[in-house]
Amino acid sequence: MFVFDAHIDTLMRLIDCRETLEDAQGHVSLSQLVQGRGAQFFAAFVDPKYYHGLAMHRTVEMIDLFWQILDDHRDVLAFAGSAKDITEANSQGRFACLLAIEGGEALEGKLSSLRMFHRLGVRLLTLTWNFRNQLAAGQTEGPEGGGLSRFGLQVVEEMNRLKMIVDVSHLNEPGFWDVLKVSRDPIVASHSNARALCDHPRNLSDEQIRALADRGGVIGVNFCCAFLRPDYQASVEDVVDQIAYLIKVGGEDCAALGSDFDGITETPAGLENYGKIRSLVGLLERKGYSEAVIEKVMGGNLLRLCAQVLG
Ligand SMILES: [Zn+2]
Repeated sequence: MFVFDAHIDTLMRLIDCRETLEDAQGHVSLSQLVQGRGAQFFAAFVDPKYYHGLAMHRTVEMIDLFWQILDDHRDVLAFAGSAKDITEANSQGRFACLLAIEGGEALEGKLSSLRMFHRLGVRLLTLTWNFRNQLAAGQTEGPEGGGLSRFGLQVVEEMNRLKMIVDVSHLNEPGFWDVLKVSRDPIVASHSNARALCDHPRNLSDEQIRALADRGGVIGVNFCCAFLRPDYQASVEDVVDQIAYLIKVGGEDCAALGSDFDGITETPAGLENYGKIRSLVGLLERKGYSEAVIEKVMGGNLLRLCAQVLG
């Protein structure tokens, strides 16, 4: 089955731990990725320690690593900048790799950076991490943080023009609603869960899930234990419950995967690493979902969104 996950932090893990993808000791390794047809968004996450003057530098370092990995493993990995690229890579027996940036700090306040990152292969931008930046305010700022700034608005408009995917994970609520109002294209919450099942500010309210889904958007279920259960004692069943809840509230076209592997410290029991992602298929079958719905959740919905937005 085709598997497409919207968010992993493996680039950060590989740089910080000086590991290669082949012998990575985190949640994702090369052999676990290439188990079958699939695609993956690799996030270049801008850690707050790089905010003061080094955000773009750090982002370029991670993008460079992404391209080095693709060069080193051309036999099994391929760059994808569109849905067509993904399908083509898979038909050649290669796993499709897409590039994302997590944190608008990387732009350092310039639309020119956004356009250059797009030329370097970036196809998705998570507008904020947890704090305020030049674009908007992250969830820790709360509603008082306000919505999109004038620059944030320009970024969303330019992303629409460039055919890039706008990601609202980490954004506060006013920012979320502003993006929905402004963006002409469907948006994603690449790694967020439903607040009704786990009341965490990183998760989405039913109203947000419905609004995002109504506009053709997709939500990637995050495997972070703190976003799955208030007591953090999460298992793969909680991930299945999140998927079921998103389908119930937003419909079968909005649920997807956004594991956050290598960006989270604790993983749910039964989903310890990327190699276990495909076990969700059997669990969803046992819940009674049809093969068509399971295919959508495991990757079809995200692929559809890429076809719509990336062109
Ligand atoms: Zn994140």
